[in-house]
Amino acid sequence: MSEYRYYIKKIFQPAPNQVIIEAGDKVGRPVFKYQPGQYAMISYRNRRGQLEDKHAFSLASSPANSQSIIFGIKIEGAFTRGLLDLQVGDELRVFGPYGNFCYQANKYPDAVMIAGGIGITPFFSALNYAHDLKLSNKLALIYSARTRLGATFYPEIRNLQANNPNLKTLFSFTEESGAVEANIINTRIGAEQIKNFIGDINGKTFFICGPSLFMAAIVANLLKLGVPRAQIKMEEFSMIPDKSWSARLKNISYALAFSVLVGAIIFFSFIYEPKSKASKNNYDANQLAAINSATYERMITIYDRKNKALADLNQQILAATNKAATNATSAGNPVGTPAAAPVYRPATVYTPAPVYTPPKTSPVPTTGVSRAR
Ligand SMILES: Cc1cc2nc3c(=O)[nH]c(=O)nc-3n(C[C@H](O)[C@H](O)[C@H](O)COP(=O)(O)OP(=O)(O)OC[C@H]3O[C@@H](n4cnc5c(N)ncnc54)[C@H](O)[C@@H]3O)c2cc1C
Repeated sequence: MSEYRYYIKKIFQPAPNQVIIEAGDKVGRPVFKYQPGQYAMISYRNRRGQLEDKHAFSLASSPANSQSIIFGIKIEGAFTRGLLDLQVGDELRVFGPYGNFCYQANKYPDAVMIAGGIGITPFFSALNYAHDLKLSNKLALIYSARTRLGATFYPEIRNLQANNPNLKTLFSFTEESGAVEANIINTRIGAEQIKNFIGDINGKTFFICGPSLFMAAIVANLLKLGVPRAQIKMEEFSMIPDKSWSARLKNISYALAFSVLVGAIIFFSFIYEPKSKASKNNYDANQLAAINSATYERMITIYDRKNKALADLNQQILAATNKAATNATSAGNPVGTPAAAPVYRPATVYTPAPVYTPPKTSPVPTTGVSRAR
């Protein structure tokens, strides 16, 4: 893998979510050799002075231009946003070239290129190359974007077409209405649009680049039209991991930091576990105390009821005894004074129930009691 330290010659935003960067050698040496359709990995120093991990971008420039390479970049995440901080004269680290999605002029005399959004970049390189070398190859470009403002390199492609009789184009701007220029449609690209635009499919090679869903839909349409699978070439802008040692070390340090964090969480939860268990036990003890107290109250209530029943019984026995004694006295057979009846008091604490004890000196005649009942 070769690394090149280029400097930025031009950087501008043709639309809010795009940036075009042109870079080259500081002292004018030719840039590295590549083929139309290949890509490079780039890196730069961010605001904090740290080197960003490398990201892949197609070389949008013509390989015939030995002084500069050009990237057309859609701004999405942190890496691409960070590119907006760069200025003319800043360093751009470039690694490559990579990839097999190449437009080889001698191999593909009749090519159809179908681009979705920022997927135009490898084709822009091929169109420029064909223009620079004044190739007689047949080229057809179908380019789909939401609007023409969002279609990267749209004005430049119009210029190329004006200067290349072998290039024909069809633009699909799906969020615009009312075609005001030739070769513009506002519908999605289906089998019918492809067929109407290119006519005979025989002998043509199809190149597709864009979002995954877009590419899947185009492939399905081409197969429907009878294009052999071998005649379809694709490039997906999927994430390519930075495999350099600096990136690997960075990932390892992130993984280590993450492990330390997880370890710390496990450790502290272990430390605090006894406390939480203790509070759980406290709770259980409180709950138990509440249950005990409720049970105790209930036992006292039951005991009270029993006590009261016994006291009532004592009262009845006492009343019967008194009555029998009165009867005996009036019959000339006196008995001793009966003991005072125990009085029922509701128990708030456990106290044994009062028990009736008959007086020893005045036995109650059985007959009297039974008569009283
Ligand atoms: C061969 C090739 C050529 C490419 N050519 C171009 C080009 O010419 N112009 C252009 O604008 N883009 C191109 N891309 C896509 C470009 O590499 C990514 O879109 C870009 O690096 C994302 O950086 P970011 O700062 O927007 O997102 P980041 O902030 O770096 O990433 C945000 C999140 O999205 C994920 N992610 C980032 N990029 C991708 C992706 N491509 N697919 C799936 N998940 C992703 C990351 O894992 C991360 O989780 C190309 C990709 C490949 C593989």
